[in-house]
Amino acid sequence: MIPLCIPQIEGNEWKYIKECLDTNWVSSVGAYVDKFEKDFADYVGAKEAVVTMNGTAALELGLRTLGIGEGDEVIVPSLTFISPVNAIKYVGAEPVFIDVCRNSYVLDTNKIEELITPKTKAILPVHLYGNSVEMDKVMEIANKYNLYVIEDATENLGGLYKGKHAGTIGHIGCYSFNGNKIITTGSGGMLVTNNDSVAKRAKHLSTQTKTVLDNGGFYHDEIGYNFRMPNILAAMGCAQLEKLDEYVSIKRKNANIYNAELKDIKGVTIHKEKECEKGSYWLYSVLIEEEYGLSRDELILRLMENKIQSRPFFMPIHEMPMYKKCRHGNMDNTIELCSKGINLPSSVSLEKDDIIKIVDIIKRYR
Ligand SMILES: *Cc1c(COP(=O)(O)O)cnc(C)c1O
Repeated sequence: MIPLCIPQIEGNEWKYIKECLDTNWVSSVGAYVDKFEKDFADYVGAKEAVVTMNGTAALELGLRTLGIGEGDEVIVPSLTFISPVNAIKYVGAEPVFIDVCRNSYVLDTNKIEELITPKTKAILPVHLYGNSVEMDKVMEIANKYNLYVIEDATENLGGLYKGKHAGTIGHIGCYSFNGNKIITTGSGGMLVTNNDSVAKRAKHLSTQTKTVLDNGGFYHDEIGYNFRMPNILAAMGCAQLEKLDEYVSIKRKNANIYNAELKDIKGVTIHKEKECEKGSYWLYSVLIEEEYGLSRDELILRLMENKIQSRPFFMPIHEMPMYKKCRHGNMDNTIELCSKGINLPSSVSLEKDDIIKIVDIIKRYR
């Protein structure tokens, strides 16, 4: 079986985790927690980082830190993993769904302004499948209307837009280290920001707003959350981070092989990276058009029969029961991509021979 995307654990994970176990520093305070935050901020080029127990918590924390809540609207794509949308609801705000670009799968910046109302407080762009959102345009609109920008950069960790790391352009950037992501801590997340007071407030909220008084007593000045990551997992994160550049370059190399092999197949549309971006290719993705002959779903079944795991694009969230009453614009590209998009195997351990085998099957059935 060629899996869709599995973790790669080959570095200092054992060593660092063993150190936590040997020294008893297993819980949510410890040297690796501090180191992971510092190393991560340094890696992406952000001033500060706050680690969390998962990516969804990082998004919720980001929204809470900026004071987004009841009565506020947040513009978010419908084509995404559901976490950012749920996080908007967790804080009591309303998601407003925006369409995506057909060629890049990420939110269409030309469609932002028509969705803005006096209630709009933030834009939450998602760098889907390793593709960059046009952040210059997002920031320009955000500045014009005085909106916050929270980037969900999970799927483009290590990817660049105009030389800057995904997640470092908006007011806050969030990442996940779930098992299928570019690097993993089993479960984990990170929030980054260039604003010291935002970072301080995020850390405060994520640690039950706990202040230790001179006599050792705990004082709390507002309702806080336990979004902390244990030291054991942070140790794993430090080891994984050491490998991130290597993993991104392997994914980019594999994407080039896929592109070269797939580009002449009729009915298969490959994603063309823009000049200004250098994506992570978290999940290598293509569109299966009508001319291909088989539907996208039939191709998924044929691949599965040949022991190759693939996945359809995320389904449109604005059509799901709990979100179908939410406001949204025209969703033509979202609907089309959801029925045509497919993620192909993208593990770091994927070999060139695997890619050739996958492409041969895609060729055989058309
Ligand atoms: C995986 C993912 C998340 C959520 O991460 P968890 O760590 O599973 O909570 C959020 N956003 C995007 C775009 C993701 O792909």
